[in-house]
Amino acid sequence: MASAECPSPAGAFVPVVDRGKCEGKADCVEVCPFHVFEVRRIEDADFAALGVLGKLKSMAHGRKTAYTPRSSDCQACGKCVTACPEKAIRLARVAG
Ligand code: SF4
Repeated sequence: MASAECPSPAGAFVPVVDRGKCEGKADCVEVCPFHVFEVRRIEDADFAALGVLGKLKSMAHGRKTAYTPRSSDCQACGKCVTACPEKAIRLARVAG
């Protein structure tokens, strides 16, 4: 049952992190009521997919980035979108 604060049932939306913007500051980890995020070292394939500026930015921030291991628990409250200082998170509707 979704609350008024979290208007969408878990599984309808997932947060999507723009790795070219994320600086691994972990505000999303702090604000998410459902523990969707973790911040850790960027995976090699994700690092390789960044452009030159993205790679430099990633290295400047210790190669940290946010992953969403529990994205299926997202209830689309939007707190992470608002909290991210880099505007690196958007919510995407899950197809199906
Ligand atoms: S929208 Fe809300 S529930 Fe979903 S990941 Fe962001 S903070 Fe967590």
